[in-house]
Amino acid sequence: KALANEGVNGLHPYQPGKPVEELERELGISNIIKLASNENPLGLSPKAAAAIAKASVELARYPDANGFYLKQKLTNYCGVDADQLTLGNGSNEVLEILFRTFVSSGDEVIFDKHAFIVYALLTQSAGATSVAIPSVDWGHDLDAMLAAVTAKTRMICIANPNNPTGTFLTPLQLQQFLAKVPEQVIVVLDEAYFEYVPVAERANSIGWISDYPNLVVTRTFSKAFGLAGLRVGYLVSTPELADLLNRVREPFNCNMLALAAAEAVLDDSDYVNQSVLLNSQEMARLTQWCDDNKIDYIPSYGNFLTVQVDDAQSVYRKLLQQGVIVRPIGGYGMPNHLRISIGLVQENDRLMAALNEILATKK
Ligand code: PMP
Repeated sequence: KALANEGVNGLHPYQPGKPVEELERELGISNIIKLASNENPLGLSPKAAAAIAKASVELARYPDANGFYLKQKLTNYCGVDADQLTLGNGSNEVLEILFRTFVSSGDEVIFDKHAFIVYALLTQSAGATSVAIPSVDWGHDLDAMLAAVTAKTRMICIANPNNPTGTFLTPLQLQQFLAKVPEQVIVVLDEAYFEYVPVAERANSIGWISDYPNLVVTRTFSKAFGLAGLRVGYLVSTPELADLLNRVREPFNCNMLALAAAEAVLDDSDYVNQSVLLNSQEMARLTQWCDDNKIDYIPSYGNFLTVQVDDAQSVYRKLLQQGVIVRPIGGYGMPNHLRISIGLVQENDRLMAALNEILATKK
């Protein structure tokens, strides 16, 4: 008899892409580009690189268990008090801490049918029940989510912008939704792609926590801040919830280099602005190209574009043979779509050229 917790036996592990070097060896080609994990194509911020070098001399020591200095910097960036912040090894880990703290066997967790896959994983490993709500135009159906709330509902997870669809809910839609969610249900607003949303359209979601103490907002340094490999994310909540999360959190969960780099990149607004600008320019170029070539796509507020293609698995494999890795999202219930992360100009050129060739031979 298996000894795993209830729920774990039915789980399938998260399927990460293979490392580029391994694929190059397997396929016998070089110069592969990776447009598959919504990473920042600009590479590490120079200020973060310098901070990592400086911090590395202290690596024989444990890191600051409470992330004091990063929290200080984040109080300015987010307009909150330090006791409202929980740091994690990527925002994945803050989500995990949240589930470990609040979700138990028998609870229900509501999310969109095409939501970030980790919500289902965490729900199932907690022995809870996933309630996946069909989307409307690939976006969240907030009314249907509300209608699905039962006495067992413990949490509702919403990514805004959503991965893998890139869809976006307006501040007004979210506020109207929050006003109707029962207060015992925790609403997780996952803003991993927050920085890519144009300033004029962003929600002051963190500011809503004082009105809705059941709201928590998660963010990450993996996208616009370009620190995916270091793993740093954070969660903003009321101090009361943060206190509970802090009891569950492993000590030293954020490593010393990650803390130093995240502090530095918060001061590197040139890097973040450049990242966001490149993304919006290249997103515009890619969507224009899709329009010109009659390729359907889901308009995206993230750093990726999800396009519709027949036989997506075969297009994915052909792109791979041409040295371009994108992400098939059959596992997200979207077997006819590919998610393409926005890369550097020359990377996107290569993607478009390869896709042109593949789709032309299919016609
Ligand atoms: N939430 C969403 C919606 C994401 O797309 C991702 C990354 N793919 C994450 C959270 C987790 O990112 P990280 O753990 O790197 O912060």
